[in-house]
Amino acid sequence: MYKNMDVVTDYIDDKCIDSSERTKYIFNPATGEVISKVSMGTSDNVNLAVKSAKEALKEWSKLSPLKRARFLFKYTELLYQNKECLAKSISKEHGKVYADALGEVQRGIEVVEFVCGVPELLKGDMSYQVSSSMDTYSIRQPVGVCVGITPFNFPLMVPLWMYPVAIACGNTFVLKPSEKDPSASMLAIKLLHEAGIPKGVVNIVNGDKEVVDALLHHKDVAAVSFVGSTPIAKYIYETASKNGKRVQALGGAKNHCVLMPDANMNDATAGLMGAGFGSAGERCMAVSVIVAVGNDTANKIISSLSSKIDILKIAPGDVDGSEMGPVITKEHKDKIISYIDTGIEQGATLVKDGRKFTCKGHEKGFFVGPTLFDNVKPSMTIYKEEIFGPVLCIVRVGSLKEAIALINNNQYGNGTSIYTQDGASARQFSSEVEVGMVGINVPIPVPMAFHSFGGWKNSLFGTNGMHGLEGVRFYTRLKTITTKWDASSYTENNQFFMPTLQ
Ligand code: NAD
Repeated sequence: MYKNMDVVTDYIDDKCIDSSERTKYIFNPATGEVISKVSMGTSDNVNLAVKSAKEALKEWSKLSPLKRARFLFKYTELLYQNKECLAKSISKEHGKVYADALGEVQRGIEVVEFVCGVPELLKGDMSYQVSSSMDTYSIRQPVGVCVGITPFNFPLMVPLWMYPVAIACGNTFVLKPSEKDPSASMLAIKLLHEAGIPKGVVNIVNGDKEVVDALLHHKDVAAVSFVGSTPIAKYIYETASKNGKRVQALGGAKNHCVLMPDANMNDATAGLMGAGFGSAGERCMAVSVIVAVGNDTANKIISSLSSKIDILKIAPGDVDGSEMGPVITKEHKDKIISYIDTGIEQGATLVKDGRKFTCKGHEKGFFVGPTLFDNVKPSMTIYKEEIFGPVLCIVRVGSLKEAIALINNNQYGNGTSIYTQDGASARQFSSEVEVGMVGINVPIPVPMAFHSFGGWKNSLFGTNGMHGLEGVRFYTRLKTITTKWDASSYTENNQFFMPTLQ
């Protein structure tokens, strides 16, 4: 029935390679229809891609950083010229609303803009005269062939967190995008080649566990970047580390927003609507828990959110004015609904129920309506687990101290925020909370490209976050060189002692 549809292939050595017998369907989540297929790459294609990247590395790693940056300047231009078409592709396969997809493209391009400054970013340190006639300087060199494995929820931005930084630093790259929405990555890689990037510098192999495992075990892969759910992040971290690779593996999240009694309620409500229900809650920085300090605060936010939820415009991503689209798959929709059922069974108060929502004219689409729970307790499944859907939970606490303790006991530590008008509370919160990215009156504190993105605890395995200086550090190895250039200080005497300052 779907025989003649388009197939998203692998992209190796600047060529589309369609060698796999195995394919998976790609859906339009707004209609529930199959729109194309993606070939599930094989370990043979992994070998081809890594070989191509290893070959390209010889020349690419030797190129001066400024020459590498010139390709990225050109790439930036092409990405801007194709912004709308990239956003349309994201919206169609992921389901997020078009304006949100445009924002994703913009945030991704900003990483490329950031690494256009790579000659500056790679400048080392130099100490003159560390000892008599001796100088020490440090350089950062590429690590080799790098791999990126990315999630469905930011099909363009997350790959752009990785390969532009890696290649700017002189590495070559193999990307394994999410099999659920791979087309935006494919478009972007074609633009990279239009910008003149040499073949083999960036390759794509599509697929699932089979391809990922082949990459994690490949002897010529030096570093692995992963973004996705926590159990897989942990698996990637452990497997790749065991195989001697450098790894950064970013996992799932349960982001809390603390609402203080002195918060500006209008601003907080507007922020929480977007943070809770934007992209149908499928953001790793989405707020899924509101920690209301005091019953009065909880009652006020329930009332203001409820009236906004009632008028939230839920429609396919390409419909003008749509504020929230569908979730990614039918399986994911069912999983979210079963979490809501569990929340009710375990005693949380269901204030708004999105389970029965259908979008008129798109009854087969994977829509879930915005859902709000009150009186959620830390022992409940809907509090403990990442739902990754449009479900907001309210936990009531008595003080800021209690709020911070709640957050610090949670297994995740990706993002968090606080709404308050009090500087001392904000300062206490930001210094005591055990979370990687913190917002003060900012509901989704996603750092800009020149800062680094990364959580704590089960939200990041490894030490380096993505992009910013952390990204540059991840994709380079530090070398420190000590020199002596002074013939008058040369000696024929053996020197058995630990060198000390002369
Ligand atoms: P996922 O973990 O299911 O998949 C991520 C990638 O891993 C995909 O490319 C997938 O093909 C691959 N994969 C899946 N199962 C695998 C297995 N058993 N072995 C090897 N590889 C496997 O995640 P997802 O559903 O695509 O994305 C949503 C998740 O990503 C959420 O948990 C979200 O919080 C997280 N996320 C985190 C961040 C962050 O920066 N911390 C950013 C975006 C998304």
